[in-house]
Amino acid sequence: MHIHIFWDSLSPPGLQMPVARTISAVIGVPATVSENHVRIMGYVNERKQIDAQVLLESIQTYKHRHSVKEPLLLVINQDLFKNGNSFVFGLARQTVGAAVISTARLGNEYYGRDGNDDDLIDRITKEGAHEVGHLFGLEHCGNQECIMFRPDTLDELDRKKKMFCPTCREQLVAHLTPD
Ligand SMILES: [Zn+2]
Ligand SMILES: [Zn+2]
Repeated sequence: MHIHIFWDSLSPPGLQMPVARTISAVIGVPATVSENHVRIMGYVNERKQIDAQVLLESIQTYKHRHSVKEPLLLVINQDLFKNGNSFVFGLARQTVGAAVISTARLGNEYYGRDGNDDDLIDRITKEGAHEVGHLFGLEHCGNQECIMFRPDTLDELDRKKKMFCPTCREQLVAHLTPD
């Protein structure tokens, strides 16, 4: 098993290596990062946001065309939404092993605070590991410190730790262990 991370050219430069390393450490599966080859689709002009469902389909198409069997996580900088939500930090589709996260609302600058690369790496890692957790069959968790907790705000995201709670960890290990 192996996780592919595609880092879009508009995503924060220079952070892909520490993010990939930390996601790999949190999940316990090797991760490689490369420039993005997926077509960025789903931009909605009136909202200035990308429809995450449409983008997931684009990832699915790419994976199919290139016979990529392993999970693929795309990191983009444009803001994401999905039907019924004004925005989402990220979205995953387990059936096809495709996930996307946006860095648009993960930087301090978005909230009028001073930028900090360590904060940003931390948040991209948590969001990325969360969506990859879904790809490995995990659902949302009620433990506010667990990676699989679903944050609605930046503070809730920051409150999470870069780890799975014992229950989620157990499910993750079971999923990753061949029968
Ligand atoms: Zn989730
Ligand atoms: Zn949990």
